[in-house]
Amino acid sequence: MISGTLTRLKETTHLVVLTGAGISAESGIPTFRDAMTGLWKNYSPEKLSSAKGFSQDPALAWGWYEWRRHKALRAEPNAGHQTIAKLATKLPKVTLITQNVDDLHERAGSQNVLHLHGSIHTARCFECRHPYEHPETSAIVKFPESRIEPPKCEKCGNWVRPNVVWFRELLPAKALREAELAVKECDLMLIVGTSGFVYPVANLPLLAIERNITTIQVNLTETDLDTKVTFDLKGKAGVILPELYKMAFEE
Ligand code: NAD
Ligand code: ZN
Repeated sequence: MISGTLTRLKETTHLVVLTGAGISAESGIPTFRDAMTGLWKNYSPEKLSSAKGFSQDPALAWGWYEWRRHKALRAEPNAGHQTIAKLATKLPKVTLITQNVDDLHERAGSQNVLHLHGSIHTARCFECRHPYEHPETSAIVKFPESRIEPPKCEKCGNWVRPNVVWFRELLPAKALREAELAVKECDLMLIVGTSGFVYPVANLPLLAIERNITTIQVNLTETDLDTKVTFDLKGKAGVILPELYKMAFEE
């Protein structure tokens, strides 16, 4: 099986990589599931990640995002992120699509990353969308101990919110269009560390599978794609991706 994977990877002309929270797990950033079973399980995703929840308790939601943002600032890209960045130097075209709101792909050297769920590192006014610049300093923020009042918009005085896609919000249209186009054009799709529960992103692998192109999934646990992809590789992204790369391009 592995030799088939390697041959296809080496011969790819346009590779699409779709990543989810699993690729950043080895950098110490909790996945969605970790987030729901950990310390902050008592807070519903609705409360922390929806416009309604934010309006009802801005200090709780902003505190949660500040906790996550500072955690991401202190994290380092891992071998999985680095391997994806290196693939772009070996293949004619690579489109990287991520559901992650951290910037570990960029810090590993990937360019033009399509962030379909936004970025935790930027913020904007809840009402008028005027951008807000975070101070550059990093601090240790604890959650749920830290309730942090969000800053106010310098233009209209309303609350500032993180630049991420919340429940019932639309994905950034341009990035989604580019992602769909890439999946329709590519000849190989690599799907890494995503549970496939979150739509419409979860449709992207299905689009590639419908086209009958080669699809490779890298994931620690079972997903609905296990029996649908061409190659299903179980294990840590930070271990499997460098191994694949080494065998395909260095041996
Ligand atoms: P998810 O948490 O639903 O699923 C993570 C998947 O990664 C699981 O299938 C898990 O088995 C797998 N995984 C865990 N560790 C892995 C590893 N080391 N190697 C390979 N696979 C591993 O994540 P999702 O599918 O991205 O959806 C969650 C939503 O939450 C997204 O909308 C995303 O925006 C958001 N989120 C983002 C981050 C981040 O930016 N790093 C973190 C948590 C949640
Ligand atoms: Zn404003």
